[in-house]
Amino acid sequence: MDKKLFAIFGNPVSHSKSPLIHNSLFKDLAIDACYTRYLLDDGSRLKEKFFGLGLSGINITVPFKEDAFAACDILDDYAKNIGAVNTIVVKDGLLYGFNTDAPGFIASLDGFMPKKALILGAGGTARAIAFALRNAGVFVCVANRSGGRLGFFKDAGFCSVTFDILDESEQFDLVVNTTSAGLTDEELPLNEKKLTPLLSNAKLAYDCIYKETSFLKMAKKLHKEHKNGLDMLIWQAIFAFEKFVGMDSNKRMMDVIKEAVY
Ligand code: NDP
Repeated sequence: MDKKLFAIFGNPVSHSKSPLIHNSLFKDLAIDACYTRYLLDDGSRLKEKFFGLGLSGINITVPFKEDAFAACDILDDYAKNIGAVNTIVVKDGLLYGFNTDAPGFIASLDGFMPKKALILGAGGTARAIAFALRNAGVFVCVANRSGGRLGFFKDAGFCSVTFDILDESEQFDLVVNTTSAGLTDEELPLNEKKLTPLLSNAKLAYDCIYKETSFLKMAKKLHKEHKNGLDMLIWQAIFAFEKFVGMDSNKRMMDVIKEAVY
């Protein structure tokens, strides 16, 4: 049987840890497959590139998750609700699309389940986390610095507010940063005056960015439990891997990946 090829499509894509994660699993499980990066310049050509490169499956990162959604023939429920796809596999010439960011986030909580969650940011990651938490029975409020992207959440029945009308005295046991603030700078997603009481009342501060951001440093200073986005990244990859190779995940996969990425 021919070696199967997989890839991550994105722009930029050079920073992605996905090749490291998936290749370490292929090697550990002695699966004859290879995973690489592909810098896509035009999202409307995603399907053409997928078939042109002879791929068996892909992950999709910023900014092509909506293009990936549009390219698929069959979608899972999370992808349908969120309007974004981060994993595609091909079967009998049809593209099957999944959103594994959503279950990946829940798995990364490692058993912790809040009653009330505040999501900062209203982009694609916020959508995935909002649906994942609501599916788990959590009350979710989405707050963003500008109003435009909140329409999606309002239409989907979520509590949604702009930062200027967010009530900082409201108690949320989970506060999640899904904004890009802190990704390449030292910015806080929300001003310190509002963020301090919100984090003080929380049980867990979670940043989807996988490094120690100013948001997480602030949680640490307030002696709060805090977590970065690395486990979410790993879990979304494990759930994607399940789709790629058609096998259930197991504890060993987490160990193999952690050894490869840390
Ligand atoms: P989007 O571009 O879709 O959304 C970005 C959001 O951030 C918007 O709500 C935007 O607000 C807000 N924002 C940007 N800059 C600032 C700022 N300086 N202050 C406050 N708000 C800001 O991004 P994604 O949802 O795709 O990704 C968001 C983050 O999540 C990224 O940092 C990414 O690295 C991380 N991520 C982590 C994953 C993981 O597995 N750990 C998976 C996917 C993403 P506005 O609407 O006003 O512009």
